Amino acid sequence: MALLRLFCRLGWAALLVTLLMARPAAADDHELPSYAPRCHAATGAAVTAANLDSRAWQCDGSGWRSGAPAVWLRFEADAWADAARPAWFFTRIARFESITFTAIDADGTVRTLRHTEADGRTFAAGPVFELPLPEITPATRVLLARIEAPHSVPMLTEARITHDTDFAAWSRIDLVLLAFVMGMLVLPLLFDISFFVVLRERFVLLHAAMVAAMMAYVLTAGGLVSAYVALPVPVLAVLGPLSYALGAGLSALFLVAFLERGGQSRLMRRVTVATGWFTMLVPGFCALQLGMTQSLDDRAYFLAFLPFIVVITAAVLEALMRGSRSARYVAVAWLPIITTSIERLLRGLGWHVGPPSLDQMLYVAVGMEAVVISLAIADRFLALRRERDAALTEARMLEQLSTRDSLTGLMNRRAIEARFEELLAQGFDTFALVDLDRFKAINDRHGHQVGDAALVACASAMRASGDRDSVAVRLGGEEFVVLLRGPHALERAEALRQAIPLRIAKEVPGLALPVTASMGIVTLAQADRAAMGFADFYARADALMYEAKASGRNRLAYERLTVFRGPPESRSAGEERAA
Ligand code: GH3
Ligand code: MG
Ligand code: MG
Repeated sequence: MALLRLFCRLGWAALLVTLLMARPAAADDHELPSYAPRCHAATGAAVTAANLDSRAWQCDGSGWRSGAPAVWLRFEADAWADAARPAWFFTRIARFESITFTAIDADGTVRTLRHTEADGRTFAAGPVFELPLPEITPATRVLLARIEAPHSVPMLTEARITHDTDFAAWSRIDLVLLAFVMGMLVLPLLFDISFFVVLRERFVLLHAAMVAAMMAYVLTAGGLVSAYVALPVPVLAVLGPLSYALGAGLSALFLVAFLERGGQSRLMRRVTVATGWFTMLVPGFCALQLGMTQSLDDRAYFLAFLPFIVVITAAVLEALMRGSRSARYVAVAWLPIITTSIERLLRGLGWHVGPPSLDQMLYVAVGMEAVVISLAIADRFLALRRERDAALTEARMLEQLSTRDSLTGLMNRRAIEARFEELLAQGFDTFALVDLDRFKAINDRHGHQVGDAALVACASAMRASGDRDSVAVRLGGEEFVVLLRGPHALERAEALRQAIPLRIAKEVPGLALPVTASMGIVTLAQADRAAMGFADFYARADALMYEAKASGRNRLAYERLTVFRGPPESRSAGEERAA
C-alpha cells in the first residue's frame, strides 16, 4: 500500500506537470505563426462562398457544431505578416468528406482548391493532418475553408493555417511524454501476461486487452503512430475513438471480474457488464464516423460515454462501501481517467474549448491506470498466494494430526500402514517390533501417568537413534515398531533395545524395576520387497516377539526372510533364523 501511495503521488505530480505544460501552450497559441479562423459558420450544403450571408458568421469563438452538412471557417489577411503568408492548413484528425479552400484577393480574384480525406497528410507527431492551401498573395484578403460533413468539433476549433507546418507538429516534450506513457503501458502489459501464466484469472486477460486497447488509443489519438507509419486520415480518425471505446468497455468487464466475491450486488454486476458491452458497441459504432450518422455521431459518441461514467463511478463506490480491497486500487487508478475523460468529453462536445495539449493529461492518466492496476493485480496475486499457503498449512496440520500418535508424537499405525510400501521401496527392509516387558505392572504400581511418562521416554529413546535410516512408530499400547535400513541394521536395533531401559530410568526416576523391552525382528532379503505387506511383516515379527517373551523377555528374536517373486500360488519362502 505504501508503494501504491508513492505511485499515486508521482502520478498526480505527472498530471500537474502536464497541466502546467498545457498552460503556456494555450497562452502562447496566438504567438505561434499559425492562425485560427476569425469566424465560422455552419450552413446547408447549397450555400457557396459568394452568397454566404454575413449574418451567418459567428465571430465570438462560440457556437461550434460539427453536425451541420458543412462548416465554413474564415481566415482574415490582417492576421498574418506578409513574410509568413500561410501555405498550409492543419487540424485535428477526424473524418470529413472534403475541404474546399477559397482565397479571395482584394480585386475579387478567387483561387480554389478542393481536397478529400485521402489527400490529408498525417504528421510525424501530433494527432493532426495537413493540406496545402491555394496560393495566398499579398493581395489576398480572406481565406475561406468549407469543410463538408465534418465529424468532430475539435477538428473545427483546432483548425489553423500556417506558412510552415513545423509549427503544427507537437513539441519534443509532448512526444517524450507520449513515449513515457507508452512505456507505462508496455510494462503492465508484460506484467499481465506473466501474471496470467501463474494466476489463470480472467481479470488479468481482460486487463491485458484493456491495456492493449489503451496503447492503440495513445498511439493513434496521440498521433505517435505517425512517427512510424503514415496511416491515412480516415484510418487514424477511426482507430483513436474506437480503441478508446473498446478500452473503456473492457474496463467495465474487467471491474466485474476483478472485484472480490461480494464486492458487487447482483444488480450492479449485471448493469456494469451491460454498460461494458454498450460502451464497446455504441460509442464504438459512432467511432466509425459513417456518412449516414454524420449529423449526430460526435455528440452521440461523447454522450454515449455518460452511462459508462455514471455506472463505473457507482460500481466502484458500491464496492468501496462493501469493503472491497481491490476497489480501493481501482478508485485510485480510475479517478484521474474519469476526471480527464469528462474534460475531454466536454471539449469534444464543444461545451468548452481548450488547447489540444490538454489531451496529454488523459494519456498520462491512462498510463497511471495501467500501472496502478498492475500493482492491484500483484496485490491480489499475493493475497491468493497467502490464502493458498494458509490452506496448505492447515492441510499439513490436519495430516499431522491424523498421522501422529498424540502421546509420543511418533508416527501412528495408520500412517505406517499407508507409507509402508514407499518405505520398503526406500530400502527400509528391517522390521523391529518392540514391546515393553511387564508393562502392566508399572501401571499397576506407579499409576497410569507414570506409565505414560515411561512410554514417552521409550519413544524418545527410539527417536534419539532416529536418523534418516530409521523410522519409529507407535503401534498402540506399549508396542512400537522401528523400521531400519542400511548396514548393521540388526546391531543398531539391538543397541536401541538396550537403550530403552536406560532412557526410561533416566527420564522416569523412582521406578521399582527397570522397564526392559523385547524385540521381534524380521529382515527381508534384497530379492523381493513388493511381495510382502505390513501385515505379513507384523505377523512374522509378532511370532518372533512371542518367542522372545517366552524365552525370558529382555531379548530379541530374529529372522531373515527371502521371498521370491512369482505367481502367488507358486511363491516359496526361504527362512534363516536366529534367536
Ligand atoms: P508382556 O511382557 O507380556 O508384554 O507384559 P505386559 O504387561 O507388558 O503385557 P500386556 O499386553 O498384558 O499389558 C500391556 C499393558 O500396557 C496394559 C496397559 O495397562 C498398558 N498400556 C497400554 N497402553 C497404555 C498407555 O497408553 N498408557 C499407559 N500408561 N499404559 C498403557
Ligand atoms: Mg508388554
Ligand atoms: Mg503388549
